[in-house]
Amino acid sequence: MIHEATLYERISEGKVRCTACSRYCILKDGQIGFCGVRKNVGGKLDLLAYGRPLVAQIDPIEKKPILHRYQGTWIYSIGTAGCNFACQFCQNYDVSQRREIEGSYYMTPEQVVDNAVKEGCQGIAFTYNEPTIFIEYAKDIGLIAKEKGLITVFVSNGYETPEAIDELSDFLDCITVDFKGNANLSFYRRYMSVPSPEFIYDALKGLSKTGIHVEITDLVVPQIGDSIDDARIMVQRVKEIFGDSIPVSFLRFHPDYKLMHLPSTPVETLIRHYEVAREEGMKYVYIGNVPGSIYQNTYCPECGSLCVERDMMRTISFNLTEDGRCRECGRKIDIKPLPEVRRNPQRISGWPFP
Ligand code: SF4
Repeated sequence: MIHEATLYERISEGKVRCTACSRYCILKDGQIGFCGVRKNVGGKLDLLAYGRPLVAQIDPIEKKPILHRYQGTWIYSIGTAGCNFACQFCQNYDVSQRREIEGSYYMTPEQVVDNAVKEGCQGIAFTYNEPTIFIEYAKDIGLIAKEKGLITVFVSNGYETPEAIDELSDFLDCITVDFKGNANLSFYRRYMSVPSPEFIYDALKGLSKTGIHVEITDLVVPQIGDSIDDARIMVQRVKEIFGDSIPVSFLRFHPDYKLMHLPSTPVETLIRHYEVAREEGMKYVYIGNVPGSIYQNTYCPECGSLCVERDMMRTISFNLTEDGRCRECGRKIDIKPLPEVRRNPQRISGWPFP
């Protein structure tokens, strides 16, 4: 499916400048961008991954994680090959660092939405690799999904340009923006081949002006990306943009890809991060990837009562009133009540390849 991208501009001598992500690759005829899926073909930019998802499976929304909206829903989740980051610890590296499109599915936007509906899902997520690199495909799917009443979700590294955020605001309900290594500049350069985390704050400012629901995660990597001072600064900057009620989750690292020599993040380190965010006044702080942890739950910021209990990326009890208040003290909690759930955990395909 040859498909011309929309997020690019033509510049001199047949070159194009991609405007989907903050790398802003300038490409000569025949060149492919850093992400591996956007190519200058004769002076126009083609999205090679259009209609070619490499992964399609059904996940609970809590796995993204989206913890404050649409709890208990099942989300048809897709990703393509390629990524604009090259994280040495990527848990989906066999997808994100793949540069061949061959071997992927063929799925038109209509087929993706049809599959989601047939499988009883309440939404569609663009995830596993960075979805901004295939934003034109995501948008076409998202617009059809909205017509059918489905939720749409991005799981993103936050490198969206203002041009990309404009596109997202047409079809996106929720986005998880994932920092890594507490947004430390040298960590981003050395372990992710990413110029700077500053662009992520720019994207967050842009997202804060849309109606899109935003949640923040931060992968805490032991020994090399676990500075408490960095975490404090990251939380302060997020709070400046969104206030104190945006959900922030600190995620446990597990050894993967090129960083197999590191241990999993100690739980004490994650708890220290949790405490720092709470000290900074954040109301909804979580720890992710630690089964059985009480830090997956939502507690009322006013009286400390258990409002939402979670485990293994699922909501297991929901103790809010119908209008979203704490049952003990009546404080408004910024979480959408659990909708009726049509449970269907069956996968439609194998992970990670067809
Ligand atoms: S989306 Fe891909 S081609 Fe476009 S700027 Fe980012 S890395 Fe470069």
